[in-house]
Amino acid sequence: MPKPALSFRQRDAAQSLRLAAPYTRPDLEALVARHGSPLLLVDCDVIRAQYRRLAAALPGVDLHYALKPLPELAVVQALKQIGGYFDLASGGEVELVRSAGVDPDRCIHTHPIKRDADIRDALRFGVRIFVADNADELGKFVRHRKRVRILLRVAFRAADAVCDLSRKFGCDPEAVPGLLALARTLGVEVVGLSFHVGSQTPTPAMHVRAVEACGTLITAARAAGFNLSVLDIGGGFPADYREAAMPIEEFCAPIRAALAALPSGLRLLAEPGRYISAPAGTCVASVVGRALRDGRWWFYLDDGVYGSFSGQVYDHARYPVSALRESDQRVPAVLAGPTCDSIDVIDDQIELPLLEAGELVVGRHMGAYTSACAGDFNFIARARVLAVNALEPCPAPEPT
Ligand SMILES: *Cc1c(COP(=O)(O)O)cnc(C)c1O
Repeated sequence: MPKPALSFRQRDAAQSLRLAAPYTRPDLEALVARHGSPLLLVDCDVIRAQYRRLAAALPGVDLHYALKPLPELAVVQALKQIGGYFDLASGGEVELVRSAGVDPDRCIHTHPIKRDADIRDALRFGVRIFVADNADELGKFVRHRKRVRILLRVAFRAADAVCDLSRKFGCDPEAVPGLLALARTLGVEVVGLSFHVGSQTPTPAMHVRAVEACGTLITAARAAGFNLSVLDIGGGFPADYREAAMPIEEFCAPIRAALAALPSGLRLLAEPGRYISAPAGTCVASVVGRALRDGRWWFYLDDGVYGSFSGQVYDHARYPVSALRESDQRVPAVLAGPTCDSIDVIDDQIELPLLEAGELVVGRHMGAYTSACAGDFNFIARARVLAVNALEPCPAPEPT
């Protein structure tokens, strides 16, 4: 189970921490002086703003935040405050939303391959909607059939997604009628379809094709007497990194059009993860030491690719990274992480001011798949996650 990054007392202190973006140098230096380094700041104002922006771009779709890219209590609390829904995939994620007091009716469990213990954990919490993509997985729900409703996950391959999630999970569209018939024989109620076309998809084309294909499948299923009433369009909504993604309104416009053409009487869900959390994370790391090797300055940080920058390996992401101290005088440099492994290099084609030990380096757009996939190789601890702007600012008083 993911442990809260801060003790309760520290969290209470962080709750009152307000920090307006863009963070200033004195802000960040003060935070490091107080909480140590490295830090991963999670800005709950940004979490809420991203959720609302995507909700406005996809009206009528219940957005279930996928915890996986940033499973943090403060994020769950921030989204709970604004009426969010949640997408869970493990016992630890169930525990996290439970500890935040989230209503289980606002949660779905979407891991296609589960142990009975995983199903029981989620059921005990009160989750009712689960995902399956094959006959064996449907069979696992027979003993729980009075309490569960199932979404069949269908695979649509997105060749252009940075992370293709339809290779590992999902049934062929042609398999849907057979699985519906099997579920009926087993007494397991299938209420709809889901898909996840892949993460960080550059264009909405695959979402649109998948929505259209699901519309056809749903119409056929209804004609055959299966009353499907839910379509879950998954995640994959792209975030900005060193390169800006398509603006989310533009990305969602053709998806909206495809959703509007679906058969009527469907509840629509989505499972955004990255889009909500990526821009909310800021990595603050310190220079530990430096060396001049073959005419190039190497700066060694206390965070690296085994830590918050793990997304450079697992998620193929390239984050905007810069020194906190601005300077016109820059040197060609290598930015390296703290472990003794030679692959622990964040960037070997970067220009930086001539940094000294103790100076800070900042990585932006680092909220998704960063600390979540970090480890403690070499016994080097992960960055402390520090939530800022946990509470929404009070509205300004009305002028009298
Ligand atoms: C990872 C995952 C998500 C989130 O995907 P993003 O691309 O981060 O939006 C949603 N649903 C499922 C089932 C996932 O595995």
